Amino acid sequence: MAARIIDGKASAARVTSRVAAAVSALQGAHGIVPGLAVVLVGDDPASGVYVRSKGRRSVEAGMRSFEHRLPATASQVELLGLVARLNAAPEVNGILVQMPLPRGLDPAAVIEAIDPAKDVDGFHPINVGRLASGADALVPCTPQGCMILLEEALGSLAGREALVIGRSGIVGKPMAQLLLKADCTVTIAHSRTRDLPGTCRRAEIVVAAVGKPEFVRGGWIAPGAAVIDVGINRLPTPDGKGRLVGDVAFAEAAAVAGAITPVPGGVGPMTIACLLRNTVIAACRQRQVRLPDGL
Ligand code: NAD
Repeated sequence: MAARIIDGKASAARVTSRVAAAVSALQGAHGIVPGLAVVLVGDDPASGVYVRSKGRRSVEAGMRSFEHRLPATASQVELLGLVARLNAAPEVNGILVQMPLPRGLDPAAVIEAIDPAKDVDGFHPINVGRLASGADALVPCTPQGCMILLEEALGSLAGREALVIGRSGIVGKPMAQLLLKADCTVTIAHSRTRDLPGTCRRAEIVVAAVGKPEFVRGGWIAPGAAVIDVGINRLPTPDGKGRLVGDVAFAEAAAVAGAITPVPGGVGPMTIACLLRNTVIAACRQRQVRLPDGL
């Protein structure tokens, strides 16, 4: 039986329209317009595309967008100075420093310099700790997006066997925390895991965040499992444009799984939608107003 395709574009559009409704309710009731500041250091073209699209999408949702560009030659002191100004700016509710940073800049120090209340990426150690301890945290956007897709596809996740492949701080680890919070039985696999295919075959939920094209094979997937493919890998094509594939061999896995996300059009669109959502959550917490219903 062919798997149901989980439509991340449609789900992201629903999240974004809930964000837009929340922004309009906040403005109406409290005069609050959430603001997102995005910092780009250097001139990496892919990062430039992400930053522009984050700004455009914030404005489309009714929020304020502040774009700050520094040259690749900017010093750590200059970057930390900008972060300090954004921390102090009342019109800025969320701060995102686009990664990767140019060589010579220390990403961990920059993340730690961001006010945890404005850390809409959810990478600050305070938010990492709050998520791990079960407190209210700003949660990293990509894993949050995966959770929304899973809950829409499966309803309650309680008691399910979930496997996260990958243990990075931006995807794998927070994903495992969120699945645990949703009462799954969670396994985290990584580059040193023995018998990954066998571990995978026991999972009812597989989240692949490895960064290796079509790494997870169809034969590893349990019949009926839900497969969330976080990977974004560009394979070369003769026309030079390249082709995007995930970390899962899609056609093979879709023949066995119960539900699966495509690449592109699965997890990808959820990340920006959850960034906008985090900005609204951050604004509400900073201004101590109740989160609008339905967000
Ligand atoms: P990363 O390189 O930081 O981490 C990869 C993880 O995969 C590591 O923890 C490693 O232990 C694990 N791994 C490597 N080889 C393995 C193996 N042979 N068996 C099992 N595990 C293995 O990558 P990341 O930042 O977590 O990103 C993972 C993928 O997700 C990338 O393709 C990235 O482009 C994509 N990504 C997508 C979004 C999105 O918006 N959709 C966001 C972030 C990352």
